[in-house]
Amino acid sequence: MRIGEGVPLSRLTTLGTGGSARAFARPETEKEVEELLGWAGERGIAVATVGLGSNLLAADEGVDALVLRLGGELAAVETEGEVLRVGGGAANAVCLHRARTAGLGGFEFACAIPGTIGGGIWMNAGAYGGDFSQVLGRALVATTDGAAWLTPEELGLSYRHSDLSHGQVVLRAELRLFRRPSEEIRAEVRELNARRKAAQPTNRRTFGSVFKNPEHELSAGRMLEACGLKGHRIGGARISPKHANFIENADGATTADAISLMAEARRRAHETFGVELRHEVEFLGALELPPL
Ligand SMILES: Cc1cc2nc3c(=O)[nH]c(=O)nc-3n(C[C@H](O)[C@H](O)[C@H](O)COP(=O)(O)OP(=O)(O)OC[C@H]3O[C@@H](n4cnc5c(N)ncnc54)[C@H](O)[C@@H]3O)c2cc1C
Repeated sequence: MRIGEGVPLSRLTTLGTGGSARAFARPETEKEVEELLGWAGERGIAVATVGLGSNLLAADEGVDALVLRLGGELAAVETEGEVLRVGGGAANAVCLHRARTAGLGGFEFACAIPGTIGGGIWMNAGAYGGDFSQVLGRALVATTDGAAWLTPEELGLSYRHSDLSHGQVVLRAELRLFRRPSEEIRAEVRELNARRKAAQPTNRRTFGSVFKNPEHELSAGRMLEACGLKGHRIGGARISPKHANFIENADGATTADAISLMAEARRRAHETFGVELRHEVEFLGALELPPL
């Protein structure tokens, strides 16, 4: 198994920022993941797995870890009855396509979530009333101690949260779907995509929602919009003029620019609404937001 050095994380994140990973590998089988976890364990090196990097901010200084991106049979998708058997590295779009072709519904909510199964389970990603916890039967998770199948309860899935931590690799999952005519699935996906396009930035370098929605009558996006932050820019990063809970890489942004914007957004939301926004985007490397 080839282990690369100095691979820039800016190539592995949709925002396009971040320094280099200490080590990088693309395992394609469970055995290769096992070997890589062993290799890192012997050297005391941390392990982090990335999917499409669509919910990820990586430190500009780089990440002192072995970073994995799953491929090959760990990104494969197959159907068996009403179950979709998927690799942790399989893209949601591929899974949805296979489900639709097989006449299996239930995964339509993921049509506009540009990630992988592993990232979706980690985040319990969701949209339009659906999320991974509603379709996940079980997931095979590897650590240095071996691999085990875990249920959604054992994974601790709740709103945009799981109990997973770095060093745990989602190798495979089983999604429990239901029979639905392909045409109905296609029509629902078309409608959801149109809604998405009307409300959120598309064809931009972003990482999806910056903050989780707080327990408040206003969503995080509406709150930041009310603070006058749409279009606000720091360095190369800008709050989307279309949806205030998105940060775009407008022009040569760094992760530090995005963090500064997030800090400013939190400060203003706290000042105006008394709310402490919590970040939805995952941090990789030594990153933190300043206290309020
Ligand atoms: C335009 C846009 C729209 C979006 N819309 C939505 C939305 O509607 N709803 C929503 O919930 N999210 C949304 N997102 C955010 C993002 O797409 C989801 O959170 C997605 O599930 C992340 O998947 P990923 O594969 O890109 O994960 P990554 O961003 O690569 O990683 C996210 C976390 O998961 C971990 N991880 C990834 N794969 C594995 C694995 N195999 N094993 C263990 N850990 C793993 C990473 O270490 C990291 O901590 C959007 C993003 C964009 C850019």
